[in-house]
Amino acid sequence: MTHRHRYTTGATTMSAGDPGAESRVLRISDTMTTVDLGMPGLAAPGDPGPLGAPLPGDRPHAPGLIDRFGRTATDLRVSLTDRCNLRCTYCMPAEGLPTLPRDAVMTRAEIVRLVGIATRDLGVRQVRFTGGEPLLRGDLVEIVRDVAALENRPEISLTTNAVGLDHRARDLRAAGLDRVNISLDTLDPDTYARMARRPFLARTLAGIDAAAREFDVVKINAVLVRGLNLDHAADLLSWCLERGFELRFIEQMPLDADHAWDRSAMVTAAEVRAQLGERFDLAPDEEPRDGAPAERFTVSGHGGGPRLGRVGIIASVTEPFCADCRRTRLTAEGAVRACLFAHTESDLLGPLRAGANDATLADLWRTAMWGKWAGHDMAAAGFVQPSRTMSAIGG
Ligand code: SF4
Repeated sequence: MTHRHRYTTGATTMSAGDPGAESRVLRISDTMTTVDLGMPGLAAPGDPGPLGAPLPGDRPHAPGLIDRFGRTATDLRVSLTDRCNLRCTYCMPAEGLPTLPRDAVMTRAEIVRLVGIATRDLGVRQVRFTGGEPLLRGDLVEIVRDVAALENRPEISLTTNAVGLDHRARDLRAAGLDRVNISLDTLDPDTYARMARRPFLARTLAGIDAAAREFDVVKINAVLVRGLNLDHAADLLSWCLERGFELRFIEQMPLDADHAWDRSAMVTAAEVRAQLGERFDLAPDEEPRDGAPAERFTVSGHGGGPRLGRVGIIASVTEPFCADCRRTRLTAEGAVRACLFAHTESDLLGPLRAGANDATLADLWRTAMWGKWAGHDMAAAGFVQPSRTMSAIGG
């Protein structure tokens, strides 16, 4: 007989007397669990190891996307395509990668249906469209418009390299897009061309200008690579601060197609702080992190100068933030990825195309997230890089 634990909507509340309570996470408040207090989740028997062991069968009867470590996913990342118009060295081989056949990729209607289920039945509040490069979807504006028209309208954002955004920003804004995250690793055209293997800096900057005209919030994501753009960090921050953009430095993650990622060569968050500290004073941001990937700092000039803005550092490798992860992902093929580094996925598109109803799809999604592991194990000797690459996940 499967246990059906008593849970309230959203906040997973377990009474201490419940069987297995000691092996599960207890919710302290609406926003805190024992995991947040740094207590390990001590998952139930059958706990999936890092390499995608079978999912536990005793998912509680709860509406939200909860997992066994007391987390609730409310932030959905949807990969709209695995195609991209750049060939970033830390992501793709120069020749690119084979891409999905057209009929394997979710259609506009399928995307909107799954996002609708997520926002109506599963407690998702934020939706971020990613790729590959989402601007390569000709129906992107329509997808955004349809999602913005959903009854439970989520906050809608886009992660893009901004190549071509200057032609789409206004329409995306009018369709309901709330904000954009733009990838920009350097302001130097030669370095950009070496890193992206495309001479598209001017087009990216034109896209950023258009985004600044249309959106209140423009975030810039930068990956620093030793020997390429590490010493560009402070200039990039100055440039962003002058324009009111929030820059976030992202530690390079082992999600590249070449499997060439080398932890010892990676630029760490500590190095970034030290690099920026040569020109700026960084102070911990007063705003709560609230499950966000980026650790944020307020930035001011040296010696107590005026506050210039904020900067964020996403230290997935050296300072992981899995204990408060609120993300769930959909691949372009309509599979749920519980974690960026997961080795297993749960197919929704197949059942959807086979006629499954919304309740069944929602339950499949819940089951996939209930089996989410505690977090990536990159620090472990036995770490195995996932076979799916960043270009087919989208961050
Ligand atoms: S590695 Fe996985 S569990 Fe950790 S923060 Fe990222 S998605 Fe969440």
